[in-house]
Parts: sequence; C-alpha cells; structure tokens
Amino acid sequence: MNQTTIKKSFIIKDGCGLHSGEKTDLYFFPAPENHGIVFYRGDKKVRIPASYQYAKSSALCTTIESEGVEVTTIEHLLSVCNGLGIDNLLVELHNLEVPIMDGSGYDFYAALQEVGLKQLDTPKKVVKVLEPVTYACNDINIFVLPSDKSNFTFSIDYDHRQIGQQEVTFQLTEKNYVENIAKAKTFGFRKDYQQLLNQGLVKGGNNKNAIILDEKGNIENMEEMTWLNEPNLHKILDQVGDFYLANNHRIIGDVFCHKSGHSTHLAFIRYMMDECPESFAVIDYD
Ligand SMILES: [Zn+2]
Repeated sequence: MNQTTIKKSFIIKDGCGLHSGEKTDLYFFPAPENHGIVFYRGDKKVRIPASYQYAKSSALCTTIESEGVEVTTIEHLLSVCNGLGIDNLLVELHNLEVPIMDGSGYDFYAALQEVGLKQLDTPKKVVKVLEPVTYACNDINIFVLPSDKSNFTFSIDYDHRQIGQQEVTFQLTEKNYVENIAKAKTFGFRKDYQQLLNQGLVKGGNNKNAIILDEKGNIENMEEMTWLNEPNLHKILDQVGDFYLANNHRIIGDVFCHKSGHSTHLAFIRYMMDECPESFAVIDYD
C-alpha cells in the first residue's frame, strides 16, 4: 500500500477553539511523500510536525511546540488522519488552537472525504510491534502486544452512574473508524467546568460540542449523543489520534489503555520509540 495525501487544498472556516474560545480558519494542503502531518503557524511562520518529538505533555489536550510556538488540541484531527490513513498533510492556522468543531472527528472526516485522497508513489510505513511494551503510572496502565492488526482497547472507570466501568475494543480500519468512532464527541464533567474556566480553559466548550456529565449521575444533553457508550468511544478516538504521534505511522499491534489520557499516551509513545527500539520495526505496509 502506498502513502496518501489529499487531492487538493481546502479551507475550514471560522472554527472555534475548545480551550481558547478563539476563532480560526484551517487551511489544508496536499504534501509530498515522507512529509508527514505538519502544522504551520502562519502568523509566526513556524512549522511543527505532529510527532512525539515535538509534543508537550498536557492533561486536557495534545500540544506540539517548536521554537517556542505551539499548536494545541491537535488530537481529533490527528485521529481522523490515522483513521483515514492520511500520511502527508500540511495544516496551516493563524492562531494557537485547532478548532473543536462538533467535539468529534466528524467534520474533519467529512471535509477530507469530500476533497478525496491521492495515492503517492512511495510505500506507506507502519510501526510493527515485535515485543510487548508496558507502561504504568499510578492506576493508569498502557501496553502494546504484537499482532497482525491495529487493535485499540480502552477501559474507563468513572464515578458516574451512566458511565462507570466500561471497555471497548476496536479494530482500526477506515470503514470501522468512520462507522464507529469518527462521530464520538468529547465529554466533560459539570463539576469541573467552573474550575477549568477559572484556569482559562474550555472557553469554547458548550452543550453542542461536549457531552456533559452532571453530579447526579445524569447526562445533561443526551440528545447530542450517537451511542450510549460514546465517552468510551471518544477515548478510543483520542487514543487513535495520540498514537499517531509515532511519526504518523499507524501502529500494527494490540494497544491497551486503562484510564489513560493525552499526557500518558505521549509518555508511552516517547518511551516506546526512544527507549525500546528493539520492541518495534518501521516497515512497509502491505
Ligand atoms: Zn478528545
């Protein structure tokens, strides 16, 4: 299978950042072989590859940085790129944060699908897991095992009546991603909202772009949900996005995450790529 990019450039206008609350346009450009997924801060004239080597640890979103310039909340767009098998893409914006859109990956998927993908002349590369890698931090566990498929399992455990303990296993193919993951919206707890606002976060959050879980164990905006286990599916969406920080190569292996988030996903990828080089091989994808 060969690498891909988009057929032509396009713009998504006037999206709003989840945390900054600021509006920005996103410009998408085709990119050549082995370019990877790269963000370009047009206002600062700085390019930042969407790779773990440029990523910064942050609890509520995935951020990349170069020359002191950041792009934040890249994870949902990165997830769609992994889901659709897009290897090369240049995304320009003139602000800090990638827009949240409807809180899922669907708007990015729809726009990329409409413009279409183009095959390039160079083989697609994947990260093939050869040996187990495990990582633990307090009650968070992440591990990968060798497999011929790209499987993602996420288990959550929230003190909330409608959520509680759940686990989902998902095999990453384009069809499965589009049908079962792309529409899964982000979620948040009502009890955290004011505190996050006080910290200057979630200024662009609302009951259209996030599923809101209240203190009584209810979901405030059930009408926004596509699936009853949507928060768990959104954790898979985030996982698929964050794991594409492995230099934009899809991981071929069984990936298990328990209660992890963006910062521990990044820590795991960094550990595997930099400290466990014998555990994987970057190979051409059949
Ligand atoms: Zn997310």
